[in-house]
Amino acid sequence: MAATIHPLPARKRIAMVAHDNRKPDLIEWAEHNKIQLARHELFATGTTGTLLENSLDRPVRKLLSGPLGGDQQIGAMIANGEIDVLIFFWDPMEAQPHDTDIKALLRLVVVWNIPMACDRATADFLITSPLMHGIYDRQVPDYSTYLKRKLPTS
Ligand code: PGA
Repeated sequence: MAATIHPLPARKRIAMVAHDNRKPDLIEWAEHNKIQLARHELFATGTTGTLLENSLDRPVRKLLSGPLGGDQQIGAMIANGEIDVLIFFWDPMEAQPHDTDIKALLRLVVVWNIPMACDRATADFLITSPLMHGIYDRQVPDYSTYLKRKLPTS
């Protein structure tokens, strides 16, 4: 499929989400990378955002709590080109009430080809990548053929 370029800016808009059992890990990771994160704008689901604000002592744009729609809000922002990176520490060991929302969010990340880390190792690779600090020419599949597809008529 052909692709179009949708650049990601040097100052990235990073969304962060952590399920309850993964929150301590995300907070520790964010504290460890506080200096690198200072170059970027932070967004988060409600509870994760409050913890991040307290630990980093900086503003975080907080959305709704995940199970109340926060994951879907982040998904909508990705589709609108308003989020550039997702750090999503989801819990592989516990079912979540909003499982369908999580799946939808993971899908939109791939639809729009934005970088995502779901574990600490990948988050480390992401935050230390030189691509984090400059404009990145992200390729997005050209969905125009899909949009112009012929639909059956009645
Ligand atoms: P929370 O949401 O940050 O409000 O806890 C995270 C989630 O469970 O999706």
